[in-house]
Formats: sequence, C-alpha cells, structure tokens
Amino acid sequence: MRAAVLRNRRIEVGDVPAPEPGPGEVLVKTLACGICGSDLHVFHQAQHNDNGGGAIVMGHEFVGEVVDYGAETAKRFKPGTRVNSIPILNRKTGAEFIGYSAVNPGGYGEYMRLTEDHLLEIPNGLPTEHAALNEPMSVGWHAVNRARLEKGDVPLVIGCGPIGLAVIAGLKIKGAHPIVAASRSAKRRELALKMGADVVVNPNDGSPYDVWREQAQTGLPDPGPTLPGWLVGSGLKPAVIFECVGGPGIIQEILNGAPQDARIVIVGLCFEEDRFQPMTGMGKEVSLIFSNSFYRREYAETLRHLAEGEIDVAPLITGKVGLDGVAHAFDELENPKNHAKILIEPWRD
Ligand SMILES: [Zn+2]
Repeated sequence: MRAAVLRNRRIEVGDVPAPEPGPGEVLVKTLACGICGSDLHVFHQAQHNDNGGGAIVMGHEFVGEVVDYGAETAKRFKPGTRVNSIPILNRKTGAEFIGYSAVNPGGYGEYMRLTEDHLLEIPNGLPTEHAALNEPMSVGWHAVNRARLEKGDVPLVIGCGPIGLAVIAGLKIKGAHPIVAASRSAKRRELALKMGADVVVNPNDGSPYDVWREQAQTGLPDPGPTLPGWLVGSGLKPAVIFECVGGPGIIQEILNGAPQDARIVIVGLCFEEDRFQPMTGMGKEVSLIFSNSFYRREYAETLRHLAEGEIDVAPLITGKVGLDGVAHAFDELENPKNHAKILIEPWRD
C-alpha cells in the first residue's frame, strides 16, 4: 500500500506492506487522518536517532471504512461502513499503539487494522473530516472531566492549539461560564471564540491572570494583595486552569499567576524534564491534576457530541493534503500559528 513513511529522518511516500488483520481485527481503508503534535514530536526525535527512528507509518486520529475481517470477529459492520476507533489494538499479548511503530501502521497509509471491539460507527450525516477530529476532541473532553467542575468555577485555558480548543469545546458543553482563553496567535484566539470562549487574551498585551480576575469577581470585597490569600482567601470564584501548551517552564508560570486554591489541569504534552518551585504552589494551596488521553467511554461520548452538532469542528480544519503533501504539512506545522488541524486524505490525488 502507499503510505507517508517516516524513514531516514524524513517523511517520504513509498510502498509498505498492507497490514493483515489478526484475530479480533478488522482491515479498514483510511479515509482521513489528522496530524497531531505528538507526530511532530516523533519526527523530531527521529532527527536525533541513530537509525533515524526506523520506518513508521504514523497517524492516530483517523476515520476508516471497513474492508475485511480477520478470524474470531463478529463482523458487526458491513464493508463500506465508516468507523472510528481509539488508536489501540487489543492483542492477546497486551495493548499496542497504532501509528507509532512499523508493525501497526496508522492513518498516514492507505490501510490500517483495528480491533473490532473498539469500532464505533460514524453516525450518518457526520462528515468524515469532522469525525477525524474525534481523537483530539476526546483529549480535551477527558481533561475537562478530570477537572471535576463545579457550578461557579471560572476556567482559564492557557494555549489554544488543537488541545486547548478541544478543552474549550468541552467546557462549553459542561456549561462553564465565562471561559477565558489565552493565546499569542490571532488566528487561534479567533478559533477559541468560535469554540465557545467568552473572553480571549493575548499574553503579549496583558496578563491572562488579570483578565481572569476581572471575570471571577464574586461581588464581595476583594481583599486585595495586602493580605495573603492563605490568610483571607482570594475573594474570587474558584479557578480551574488548563495548561495546554506543553513545554518546560509553563507549570511555574501558571503557579506564579494562579489565585489561591486553583485547580491546574495539565494537558499539554511536555517531553522534557521540567522544574518548578513547590513553595509557590504550597503558598496558594493549588491542586495539580495531570490528564492523559481519554477513556474509551469518553471517545464514544465525543463522537456523539460531534454528531449531534454540540461541537462544530469545521473551523479547526485549516488544511487538507494527500500523501504527497504530508512532508510539506510537517514543515508548515513547524510554525503553526495559522493552523489548528491539517488532515491527510491518503486516497486524495
Ligand atoms: Zn493526537
């Protein structure tokens, strides 16, 4: 099959063996697949790898069409049915990721194998390209669930890349209000508003934490900065801050800006070692909550949100390419200020 393969530190289009569906598995034809920030990370890692990272067909944000079944399958869906799945194979030997190795090709190729038990049918009427955003949207939905929102919480979203935007969409569904979001990119601030943010702020123009404060007034007298928060409380509505940037130093920045008792949900992927000053967090008694991908149940919930029009992801798709355009799309995403999600359509010319 044709695929955009990460090989020799480059993304090149070539022929690789089509995957064979094993027991409990389904062969699908890839219809669309999003390029994820973690794919860019794998690409960068390959630059420093002795073997160039091997040969990988990436892609874990996909929609496919059922083609064929392996052994021990119930054949629940007719060939041609559009399906979505969490990017994991349930194997007798354990769980295996799709899109991070040579053996389990992801959606950057023409075909994939999926675990039948994980298949979700794409509801009629939901465009394939929108369903392909189910994976990143689920990451945001899970982070919002991790925050255990309560009435009156005022969220602040730091970073409006695909994950920050997914968090905003999840907050909107939960009825959180007002939603404050910060990004240095004008394009992304505009997308944040479309996804449901009430107030957006460019950190180059002013502190997101000050803007948050204005939105979080309780009407009671603000004790102001003279007396410390641990003594008199913040006098503000509860803060839930979502870290959606991913990178060293961000947690400390948030600790510095956060009000008393803030819950901080860390969703941005940071692959490097980071440092922060625990005393800053202790003085404010903040809670650090880490969030990672999603539960299978949440993946189905997000697909329903998309199908029922609760989330409109159309504005998030800022580009579409065929396999030949993948390498260029990776270049574009080096400076992603004007992009949210680029989709690959492997069968596109
Ligand atoms: Zn992803």
